[in-house]
Amino acid sequence: MILAKYVLLSDLTLLHDYRDFPLLDFLPCAPSNMMPGVVYRFLQGKESPPMDNGESLRAPYALRKIEAGLLRDHKREEVAVPHSKYIRDFIKDDTEVIGVTTMDPLGFGPLTMSYSALFGTNSFAWVRKEWEELLTRVASARRGKKAKIVVGGPGVWEFTIAPEELDKFGVDYAYQGESDDIISTLFQQISEDSFDSNLFFNGYMTYDDNFVRSFKDDRRFLSRRPGIRMYPTLDDIPDIVRPTTKDMTEVMRGCGVGCDFCEVTLRPLRYYPIEKIVRELTVNAKAGSTHAWMHSDEIFAYKHGNRFEPNEEALVELFKAVISTPGIKHTNPTHGRISIPAAYPDLVMRLSNIIGAGPSRWIGIQVGLETGSDRLAKIHMPNKTLPLKIGPDGSWEEIVWEGVRNMNLAWWRPAFTVQVGQRDETDEDNWSTVALINRLSESYYGDRPFEFTVTPMQNVPLGLIKSREFSTIMLTPAQLAVYYASYRHLAKMAQRDAYESGKGWFLGKMGASSLIALGGRAMLRVVEGICRKQGLDVEKVKNYGLAGNRRIESLHQLAQAR
Ligand code: SF4
Repeated sequence: MILAKYVLLSDLTLLHDYRDFPLLDFLPCAPSNMMPGVVYRFLQGKESPPMDNGESLRAPYALRKIEAGLLRDHKREEVAVPHSKYIRDFIKDDTEVIGVTTMDPLGFGPLTMSYSALFGTNSFAWVRKEWEELLTRVASARRGKKAKIVVGGPGVWEFTIAPEELDKFGVDYAYQGESDDIISTLFQQISEDSFDSNLFFNGYMTYDDNFVRSFKDDRRFLSRRPGIRMYPTLDDIPDIVRPTTKDMTEVMRGCGVGCDFCEVTLRPLRYYPIEKIVRELTVNAKAGSTHAWMHSDEIFAYKHGNRFEPNEEALVELFKAVISTPGIKHTNPTHGRISIPAAYPDLVMRLSNIIGAGPSRWIGIQVGLETGSDRLAKIHMPNKTLPLKIGPDGSWEEIVWEGVRNMNLAWWRPAFTVQVGQRDETDEDNWSTVALINRLSESYYGDRPFEFTVTPMQNVPLGLIKSREFSTIMLTPAQLAVYYASYRHLAKMAQRDAYESGKGWFLGKMGASSLIALGGRAMLRVVEGICRKQGLDVEKVKNYGLAGNRRIESLHQLAQAR
């Protein structure tokens, strides 16, 4: 085994393939008292296998970037990414730093919170159970040794609310922010407990409920000193050198659209050049990947033009380059806005033709729908519709409807998220979201029903997260109605599509498909029970916004449904 100076680990939840079913990656957000361990472990699927030396063949993309950054200044044998089975074998007396990247360690993420709010439970979600299992093992392996433990990644904000969770497992520091350019310096200074105050400060950046940013001192945290170099430039970002889980490859960082609830928009835009993307894809392809997830927070912003008009030629060049990379046979972007398919159907079709989308190869993409309310959309995300505008170019609902139709025509299947508990939200806004979900669910393009999923996410004020009393969140009937409409549509989709999706051996796939279809129905029954108990009229929710013709095939019929 390698005796590494730096040992890199990640959330155990990020290491599995989730049987390649769309949305199953969200499985660890479920409360552990509602999702039996045996079902959870089955649906998690396989973990990436170990290599002969005990390291993991694949690792999450964020971890691969840290690894690549360290390898600029260190020898290969000094940096290790162990397989989860062999963690203890890599943490030795001369290990200096154990770096752990995490997404949602304490279960405070909006999807995890949505289950807590809905089921009224303070029971730990699987994400937290798995985090605690990992940190227990790391703390035990480190006992009596000099190695420092540092956690980083997008989930670090959760420790700003519960810093005692760092102490519980003897974590020395939580690092917040991007670190590609300074990772070697950071690890070296962590090992020495001595920090260059021109580069780092002991504290973290936080936001209040109005998303106003401030900096707080805390010796347990490390952040880049606020100033001109808070983010790496494109040239500072290294290429990955080993393959990633989920065949992930980044194509850009930042977004710039400016939604007022989103931290990504505060980061500078950096577009990866095509050559860099192809180099990283090749690393995955050489390890056997035939698929490529193109990661960004907004694919249509790739080298965008004025008013966030899509740069068609840049997108075409990107998609062509990805699908032409030797070994890559299919690809999906991770996230995108709905207004671009609404306004540029030809572009979406062109991209589909390039990457070979079709009836047996749907392009899944996560789309933040957030609300069905024009009023709320204008408050929180006025630019998300650009270059269209709510008003002159139709209502938000019309833009979304047109976008789904154009996506489906080109064999794209959006996985929507909607928010519940947004600032300034009224009951009327939530009922607008219910109406939008119901109308999309009853919409058709030609003979086919609209293909989309919708997942509700809960916004929880930080104060309530701090108090740990998630179960005291009282969802209003209108908020519950959004949950019910979403899970009703999800059950319909699970029934319709579960057997078409997923990969793997026949019985495994059939087992997972059956569980998903069954799970969709069971989840709907549970949610319906909660709604009835709270006095919500579920018949009203089922029919809300569907006056007149139930089947909607055009914007004209959509207007009639109102
Ligand atoms: S479009 Fe998406 S990534 Fe961009 S600011 Fe809005 S929510 Fe964030």
